[in-house]
Amino acid sequence: DAVLELRDLQVSFGAGKHEVTVVHDVSLRVGRGEIVGVVGESGSGKTLTAMAATDLLPSGARRAASAWAFDGTDLLGADRNGRAAALGGKLGVVFQDPMSSLNPARRVGSQLSDTSRFWGKRTRAQAHDDAVDRLRRVRIAAPERRVDDYPHEFSGGMRQRAMIAMGLMATPQLIVADEPTTALDVTVQADVMTLLRELNEEQGTAVLLVSHNIALVAEICHRVVVMYAGRIVEELPAADLATGARHPYTRALLSAVPNPDPDVRMEPALVGEVADPGNLPPGCAFHPRCPECFAACRDRTPALTSTDDGRQLACHLFPGSPAT
Ligand code: SF4
Repeated sequence: DAVLELRDLQVSFGAGKHEVTVVHDVSLRVGRGEIVGVVGESGSGKTLTAMAATDLLPSGARRAASAWAFDGTDLLGADRNGRAAALGGKLGVVFQDPMSSLNPARRVGSQLSDTSRFWGKRTRAQAHDDAVDRLRRVRIAAPERRVDDYPHEFSGGMRQRAMIAMGLMATPQLIVADEPTTALDVTVQADVMTLLRELNEEQGTAVLLVSHNIALVAEICHRVVVMYAGRIVEELPAADLATGARHPYTRALLSAVPNPDPDVRMEPALVGEVADPGNLPPGCAFHPRCPECFAACRDRTPALTSTDDGRQLACHLFPGSPAT
């Protein structure tokens, strides 16, 4: 019973000998009421995976998949209008920078009302009331007054909460939040994360959280998908991350989380550059940076394989990871 199902996704740019594939064979599933985190460094393909799932890929990107469904509707065989009808009103998207997502020349409430009027067929007055209600729901103080503010009159945290409110204007089954707290202060980050968790707990809204911050993802997600160089390298329950992560890349990301204890000396956990999608090394793309690399890693790409305890893992260190 998935709200989002994507199988064997490939995303590529360019054509012919200039074609570069940046997302390889990614299968992603978000169950109803589930919070799934997709984590990895910049260039890991996490944002393009989320954009492909929500039909928001930039022009020039090509998507191929063996299955793609949202809320029970097949999107693979649908045209652009069919996909918009299936996703509109049921999908909320929160981007990293709310200032560039909101139109600075229009009042916040008016922008929120668009969704209600278009997808909910509400009148102008009803849509205005909806906007006040959703701003209240995301804890904007005095929403009756603030609904008429322009985006520049909101703080960064308020703008991000307004973006979440926009996603709530219809009846979202899924909120996709792409680095929703990166541009915010630490205290405001916690506020936005709490809000997403409350929406999930109180209304059962599923969340796909894309982030480079594995600590943040571990805190609010049920399940975590780790990506490197356009591939999923590990998938596991968030509760097992701290002690049960097996992939060397996942463990390196966890080791890179700063320790607040000043007496703990931190060693660099990840050395070297993220793999270039247009020039991936042979074998496992992580091998030039992997402290546990051995001969087979340089020749063969480990396939993502289900483990006995229901996880997914792509690493030659673990039996059952056949090469591709
Ligand atoms: Fe490291 Fe080899 Fe596993 Fe890749 S396959 S993560 S190089 S041990």
